[in-house]
Amino acid sequence: MGQTLATALRQLFNGVSNGAKGAFDALVARDCYLCGCPMGRERGAVCAACAQVLPRHDGPACPRCALPTARGECCGRCLRQPPAFDTTHAVFDYAFPLDVLVQALKYHHRLALAALFARELGALAEAEVDVVVPMPLHVRRLRERGFNQAVEIARPLARAAGVALELAEVVRVRDTAPQARLERAARQANMHGAFACRRRFDGLRIAVVDDVMTTGATLDALARCLKASGAAAVHNFVVARTLW
Ligand SMILES: [Zn+2]
Ligand SMILES: [Zn+2]
Repeated sequence: MGQTLATALRQLFNGVSNGAKGAFDALVARDCYLCGCPMGRERGAVCAACAQVLPRHDGPACPRCALPTARGECCGRCLRQPPAFDTTHAVFDYAFPLDVLVQALKYHHRLALAALFARELGALAEAEVDVVVPMPLHVRRLRERGFNQAVEIARPLARAAGVALELAEVVRVRDTAPQARLERAARQANMHGAFACRRRFDGLRIAVVDDVMTTGATLDALARCLKASGAAAVHNFVVARTLW
């Protein structure tokens, strides 16, 4: 597509919904999101060179919460106070330049990044699961942002794995304060009653998909809710893990 036509179309699309804009960007954007180099016919959101330097979360880690441990044993925190989820798989550390990509998806609607994240998570999704549940967004945030980044990541992941995607019956009923600024006890109190399940998950193994795991309190609250609705196991699949 010629540059002038692309620019004209881009201007035309400025009045259109964010979803359409995202789709349009995905069609014409051919520059790497990180270094800006032209990518030609290379597929994906970042070039091969940038993909190589992304901070991979591949050292030994606690199987429960994915925090680094010396030999891959369960961490002290999970031993003392086991979370409601069973395992956590993280692809990247939440560090530069991965944080730039996560924010580009979340706040700048770079939907091509969701496909990149799904591909990266796909390599890890060997766990046997029956249902994929993207981390629900409160309806007010959904309205602000126009889309739920966790849904965009989970959709291709569920399709590739041939697993059902639950989009409607697990909801965030309280718009909670940002977690990062709170102490641990306050975080748990903050998340109490944040989610609701409107269906049963009796005996089902669930994959929860989210972009970033920071304290784990939100994922813990969701897993608690899913297990109260009968889920046999809850496995977290997160793009990035915040390290302490
Ligand atoms: Zn690049
Ligand atoms: Zn742990």
